[in-house]
Amino acid sequence: MAGKLIILLGPPGAGKGTQAKKISEKFKIPHVSTGDMLREAVRNGTELGLKAKAAMDSGKLVSDEIVLGIVKERIFRSDCEKGCMLDGFPRNISQAESLKNMVGNDREMVALLIDVDKDILIKRLTGRRNCLKCGAIYNVYFSPPRVEGKCDRCGGDLVQRDDDREDVVKKRLEVYEKNTLPLIEYYESEGILKKVDGSMDPDVVFEKIVQKLDLK
Ligand code: ADP
Ligand code: ADP
Ligand code: ZN
Repeated sequence: MAGKLIILLGPPGAGKGTQAKKISEKFKIPHVSTGDMLREAVRNGTELGLKAKAAMDSGKLVSDEIVLGIVKERIFRSDCEKGCMLDGFPRNISQAESLKNMVGNDREMVALLIDVDKDILIKRLTGRRNCLKCGAIYNVYFSPPRVEGKCDRCGGDLVQRDDDREDVVKKRLEVYEKNTLPLIEYYESEGILKKVDGSMDPDVVFEKIVQKLDLK
């Protein structure tokens, strides 16, 4: 049987990307982020990117059809055989059902909820900055780079995502509550839900995740 498929759940700003990068580096499992893949398609001006852009800019979900296409193409590549982490997918019950059908009994799945109180999410999201070159994630309030606007790791320029501005952030949190929150119960009833408190320091959250998922 192929390695575990880890589904990272949690509101925008919970720290899914931050943790996925740490896990990916340490345990060498691919980080499959639908948000990152969609943003890349938008930057490259592909047909798929053009279709996704309007929904992303307004904080709404991109159509299931588009997202399922990119996920299917990605998770069956050979590097995912040893396991992989899904970040930002599934985002609603219908995507979760499609994932289940796609994977069948071939892979063990686990859903990990990174739980964070709503009141700190807005600050995390509006303070988020990403490196254009290497994708590293910073926060002007919680984890600022050493030199303003520049990546500590590669010197690349740090930018704010268009959808991390306050009005779009509010919309995204609403969309999360309506569409994605029901997945917590869904995976609980599937018997594969695990939870960690995501409000602590990122390194502490990481240690908890390693324990909960028994990563080696
Ligand atoms: P998500 O992928 O869930 O939307 P990110 O990993 O991009 O979240 O994190 C959102 C923002 O919060 C980033 O600016 C990141 O630096 C910051 N952040 C992530 N985890 C923590 C944490 N445990 N404590 C404080 N800030 C955090
Ligand atoms: P965050 O975790 O910070 O909310 P993501 O990077 O996961 O943000 O997603 C950014 C945007 O990309 C979403 O607001 C949505 O428009 C689109 N998106 C990402 N993943 C999906 C998905 N599984 N289904 C539909 N839309 C998605
Ligand atoms: Zn960088």
